[in-house]
Amino acid sequence: PVRVRFAPSPTGNLHLGGLRTALYNYLFAKKHGGTFILRIEDTDQNRLVPEARNSIYEALYAHGLKPDEGPREGGDFGPYEQSKRRDLYSEAASQLLESGHAYRCFCSSDRLELLRKDASRRGQVPKYDRRCLGLDPSTSKAMASDGVAHVIRFKLDQQDVSFKDAVFGDQTQTIDESDMILLKSDGFPTYHLANIVDDHAMNISHVIRGLEWLSSTGKHQKLYKAFAWKEPTFLHLPLIMKTNEKKLSKRDKDGYANWYIDVLGVLPIATLNLLIRNGSGFKDFKPENLYSIEEMIENFDASLIGRRNLLLDPHVLDKYSRQAFQQADFETVLYPEIVKRLGKNTNPELLTKEYVGKVVNFLKQNEEGFGFLSDLSTGKFRWFFTLPTSADQILTSFSANDLAPILASLKDPEIWHNDGFKRLAEKFGLQLSRFLGLVRISLIDSKQGPPISELVQFFGVEECVKRISVMER
Ligand code: GLU
Repeated sequence: PVRVRFAPSPTGNLHLGGLRTALYNYLFAKKHGGTFILRIEDTDQNRLVPEARNSIYEALYAHGLKPDEGPREGGDFGPYEQSKRRDLYSEAASQLLESGHAYRCFCSSDRLELLRKDASRRGQVPKYDRRCLGLDPSTSKAMASDGVAHVIRFKLDQQDVSFKDAVFGDQTQTIDESDMILLKSDGFPTYHLANIVDDHAMNISHVIRGLEWLSSTGKHQKLYKAFAWKEPTFLHLPLIMKTNEKKLSKRDKDGYANWYIDVLGVLPIATLNLLIRNGSGFKDFKPENLYSIEEMIENFDASLIGRRNLLLDPHVLDKYSRQAFQQADFETVLYPEIVKRLGKNTNPELLTKEYVGKVVNFLKQNEEGFGFLSDLSTGKFRWFFTLPTSADQILTSFSANDLAPILASLKDPEIWHNDGFKRLAEKFGLQLSRFLGLVRISLIDSKQGPPISELVQFFGVEECVKRISVMER
């Protein structure tokens, strides 16, 4: 059976590359009637961020990538957090000690530091000198049971290793490295050990992950061989680039999945489309389409995953975001997303389904370019969701005495039709543009905004008059 896993380390918010890895694992599982597993790789105690697990979950849920098995979902292969599986790793390490593929290393950190310094003085890459490999096994055992601090190292034979990656083809890697640590002195496993042990124990059939892990795969092959376990099929996904020269990095704000939703305000489906934008892994891919998740599953074909890097193109995101807005269902997608964004700081009157529906209709019909929900919360369409509260803004250019009669005249509904504004402007001896500016501020508390005629059409005369009355107070 197809069983795939997404295995993030909870060290912060979900990286965009992580979201892409999760997406491809999800699509692969769904395409083959398989199982999509979330495994939290939390063995590096120094890098743990307590909230990270939840924020990874939120990001996965928000994008519709719900795991079939995982810490919250449970499953037959749990627990799904590595910190809760430590016995398994020490057993595995002992197994390799027994079979002679691993050995205890009692070298102090001071000694290792000296080795490192010595190597760099000679311009060499530091490499552990295998001093403890020579220890007599019974001595080693006795020292361990006396409680002498130690790590367990893998005896990494320095032979080239060859394997096949389903995306990047035949690989040969030269191994010229220290014997890698499997179990640290605090009893926690390293990534390499825990990852292999779990992929085996959880019956993982395919490992789909970012290209940055390809270089570890050779060492993983050696571990599989030492355990005499069958290895899964490996598929590495190409890099995500910010420009043709520059990789997307964790320092880029748009390198995180939640930035797209929380800050920019695109609908999640637009971000997912950005991530498949090069068509890698899809048959009959049409970049002008906005694919739903169901359509992605339908067209997914892992044998078509390519080696070309994925370039993040902001213009494409712009386009997908608009398409996503136009196509999104109001009840199930737009209404909840908008309320979630605006909820806290917005007058509840303006969050009724009826009112939000009216806003959405207006935007879908009048604003070709609308696609970023942030425009509603902080940007140019903020006025939809604010009520004018005082005449302060207007009073910077009008005296209170001049303003009072103007506002009084604006309460006559007749003025809002035909050439009413022009007549009033003349009556008060004001330039029409200055007068319209005053009307706009009175309605939406902002100097910028759509033409007055559109505002009147949107609010209706009655609401306009109501807003003017607020100004009067
Ligand atoms: N914990 C690793 C990560 O943070 C997992 C890599 C893998 O999928 O093997 O990405």
